[in-house]
Amino acid sequence: MGERSIRIRGARTNNLRSVDVDVPRNRVVVFVGRSGSGKSSLVFDTIAAEAGYQLNETFPPFTRNRLPSWSRPDVAGIDGLSPVVVIDQRRIGGNARSTVGTITDTWTYLRLLFSRVGTPHVGESNRFSFNDPAGMCPTCQGLGQKVVSAVDRFLDLDRSLKDGAILLPGFGDGRYWYARYADIGTFDADTPLRDWTQQERDALLYGGEQARRLGTEKNYEGIVERFERIHLHTSDNLSQRKQETIARFTRSADCPDCGGDRLNAASRAVTVHGHTIGALSRMEISELGDEIRGVTDATVAPVVAALTERLDAIDRIGLGYLHLGRATTTLSGGESQRIRTVRHLGNSLVEMLYVFDEPTVGLHPHDVEAMTALLEQLRDKGNSVVVVEHDPAVMAVADRVVELGPGAGDRGGRLVFQGTFDELRRAGTPTAEALARRRSTKDTPRTATGAVTVTDAHRNNLRNVTVDIPTGVLTVLTGVAGSGKSSLAAELVARHDAVVIDQKPVGTSRRSTPVTYTGVAGPLRKLFARHSGVPERLFSANSGGGCPDCGGLGTVRTDLAFMDGQETVCETCHGRRFTPEVLRHTVAGLSIADVDELTVAEALDRIPDADVAHRVRQLDEVGLGYLRLGQPLSTLSGGECQRLKVARELRDADRATLYVLDEPTTGLHLSDIDTLLGVLDRLVDRGHTVVVIEHNLDIVRQADWLIDLGPGPGRHGGRVLFQGHVTDITGTATARALAA
Ligand code: ADP
Ligand code: ADP
Ligand code: ZN
Ligand code: ZN
Repeated sequence: MGERSIRIRGARTNNLRSVDVDVPRNRVVVFVGRSGSGKSSLVFDTIAAEAGYQLNETFPPFTRNRLPSWSRPDVAGIDGLSPVVVIDQRRIGGNARSTVGTITDTWTYLRLLFSRVGTPHVGESNRFSFNDPAGMCPTCQGLGQKVVSAVDRFLDLDRSLKDGAILLPGFGDGRYWYARYADIGTFDADTPLRDWTQQERDALLYGGEQARRLGTEKNYEGIVERFERIHLHTSDNLSQRKQETIARFTRSADCPDCGGDRLNAASRAVTVHGHTIGALSRMEISELGDEIRGVTDATVAPVVAALTERLDAIDRIGLGYLHLGRATTTLSGGESQRIRTVRHLGNSLVEMLYVFDEPTVGLHPHDVEAMTALLEQLRDKGNSVVVVEHDPAVMAVADRVVELGPGAGDRGGRLVFQGTFDELRRAGTPTAEALARRRSTKDTPRTATGAVTVTDAHRNNLRNVTVDIPTGVLTVLTGVAGSGKSSLAAELVARHDAVVIDQKPVGTSRRSTPVTYTGVAGPLRKLFARHSGVPERLFSANSGGGCPDCGGLGTVRTDLAFMDGQETVCETCHGRRFTPEVLRHTVAGLSIADVDELTVAEALDRIPDADVAHRVRQLDEVGLGYLRLGQPLSTLSGGECQRLKVARELRDADRATLYVLDEPTTGLHLSDIDTLLGVLDRLVDRGHTVVVIEHNLDIVRQADWLIDLGPGPGRHGGRVLFQGHVTDITGTATARALAA
């Protein structure tokens, strides 16, 4: 009998060209290939989707509606599947009650420990659960945080009331609230607030006795009181505008009662070996392990063993710098992914299918080894592990490498190689070629035009960092995960108004496509109108010429009472979005709907219009030539979104700007890195300053200036180890990675 495998036949999702492939089970299988070649289409949209779909089918409809919904892939057949766990970079997200402790189940063990051997002796372990009324702090309901007014943002002390000193909406001269403060005779409306007495400013802000003494009416309300009454102490549904106001004029602060420990006073007082549970939850995980090992009471030996095993696992994948109390909403994508991986290591399920999306994102070469060890552990427990990855270090541990390609979009979607990593190196595929290419260090770095300084930064773990960021050049921030790169970048942004080009999704509307995003829609309509002699607006699916039955969307959504809404192709226009009359008009043989089907690269070849070409070219320049013009932006990956934003900046920015990018190589194949470098260079050549956080050594080597943070993560990092030219760095983890 041959090797057991997941057999896929005739996969056609997105750009796949009827792919047949056998993925061996109980192995680490790494999928490689250029960006847009079809890796995600095969791994996520086909293998994981079918596994998820089939698993859901085994549940009754009531349960099914509470599970993530999977749409069935376009594939002739798949067998040999098992239940799937997808571990991607989605942040753990929204729930403020989720912490590193709860998500890894370590908190459950810690609670058990406190309930068994705590002093004074305590009862049930739910007394240490901040999600249980028996344990939660009554003031913050177990959230550890309260939203409070950011009073320092309410006023501009350099202005008078007349000039708009009160920055809250509705308080400017002539606006609704203005008269209630400026015209009541208590305050001097013409003098900048800086020149008022402290008492006068307090009266304005807080009302109360202070205001009474200055002679205000009894019902006078200070602006803080008023703000909190209207925005914070209300149970109304808040409008979008009010929510924005709240975001601007409040911050969350540690709960005044529990100080962020989330538990009530009685539970906070209990100790094990002299430590409260709060103190333990603030300790770095690497130290917490040693502390827990010191608990030697025989009654809790199994709890101690289980807890330390988990803590050690977290430490081994390089997250020992976190603490159990850390809210998962504040973790980066890479950290979230690794935390979820540890959680699965702890379970005893076997024969599962684990699917990973670029698990090395956010990892310094120094941390990658820990991640690959984790993948191997999952396999050795009896699971199948499938990974989409660009990092050669992960390919090197694969039992099998599968390459899709050879190109992107229509030029990809085929199986071009499968075998071992060593075989791949000799296979002559795009990945093999990229692996063989050696990139050198930039020999003539650009000269800075000046510098912006970040002085005495101490956000998160930064140790009073003062550093110059040279302007007019490309600066790369390096350092092991958790060393403080994002924290430093955040300080830079806060102090110097930088533009952050991140990987957050673009375009919230279902109608957003590269056409709408690049602003090519207008010139395109003009072009069609010019050629056909009919009004421009007919070529807009949203207004004039759209199919009346689907409103120009091409799909119709049916909402069913209990089940997921179904999206189906519109039967009138067959997804073409326009009326037949509009589609009769063509330019260069293409109807307006045909244009949506073109890739960016094809559009450059085929659309005879300079204005259109100019805008579309920016997408090609950032390596997105394979995108279809009509592809919904909601289908793009994080890395693609980021490159799309870069494309927009290439067009728009005219005055010198400071750009900050976090790992722009995410999702990029080795062979696309030159394209990315070209784009970054172009931004710099136009006079901008570019700062990137990056682990990819090819990018690091091309930096004009390098700032290396470390030496370790968390408390062990937060210092500048090196700043200067890449060739001069020695002695740090980054230096060692560059030399290797
Ligand atoms: P990779 O993972 O190798 O980067 P993908 O599988 O994400 O590639 O994409 C393969 C091709 O399919 C690309 O041209 C991409 O733009 C396209 N594509 C991906 N998702 C969708 C979708 N939901 N709808 C239409 N096209 C898609
Ligand atoms: P890097 O970008 O180098 O991976 P970060 O700047 O994200 O590092 O993190 C530096 C340190 O600050 C780490 O110990 C991290 O756990 C901590 N940290 C980051 N963000 C937060 C936050 N929102 N709340 C508390 N600690 C944080
Ligand atoms: Zn509290
Ligand atoms: Zn229609």
